[in-house]
Amino acid sequence: MTYSLLREIDYLLAPRGCAGCLQPDCVLCHTCQQQLDRWVERDFPSSLICLGALFSCARYQGPVRHAILTWKDHGDREVTQYFAFALARLILCTLHVAGVLSDHPLVLIPAPSSRSSLRERGWYPMRELCTQLAVLLSSQGFHVHVCCALHQKRGSHKSVTGSVRQRQSKSRTYQINWHQVESVFDAQTLCSPPMSLSSSPFVMMIDDICTTGSTVVGCIRSLRQAGVSVHAAFTLASVPG
Ligand SMILES: [Zn+2]
Repeated sequence: MTYSLLREIDYLLAPRGCAGCLQPDCVLCHTCQQQLDRWVERDFPSSLICLGALFSCARYQGPVRHAILTWKDHGDREVTQYFAFALARLILCTLHVAGVLSDHPLVLIPAPSSRSSLRERGWYPMRELCTQLAVLLSSQGFHVHVCCALHQKRGSHKSVTGSVRQRQSKSRTYQINWHQVESVFDAQTLCSPPMSLSSSPFVMMIDDICTTGSTVVGCIRSLRQAGVSVHAAFTLASVPG
């Protein structure tokens, strides 16, 4: 019997509590939802991310941390829609400030999970989150693609720990899924100068947590080598600096 099936049975037998604070009879209580609107901005070089920052819904602590771990590691998929709403609020505000109009095409690139995580969890949380996010952004008039452009090389792990040397080698742990990239980006876009927005879609990298920043940097560098420039990066939460 699979772990996810056992969880389904568990939910049927016992009413669930808030994924953030365990308050009974709700998926994510109103107070915990409000925690996801305490936006955090972390500076990155504009040569890496066009907008020069990574934006997060909240700091990675307390109920937010608990909710993300419950969602991702314990398969609490009911939380996905709440995270998608929180990210949509942040992204729509950021697009408005950046002057990106609703007729501009958007591309969402989910950070990849390691092969072992996919196997153990039996699902790809970031893809599911991006799919729901795309629906919400589309409802606001945007034309949105989800592009799973990256996957991790066999034997590599997306981890927040490890030596400096291991973290520095992060950029070499991602492979391009060319089938996905070529289905979303035309050849002209892939050959256009980095950060050229006028001729290309607005590309956003989406991840769950930003800790050292090495994952997002590794992903963006791999995408750049494939001709894809990232204009903005968003995470659900960011570790306080
Ligand atoms: Zn709560």
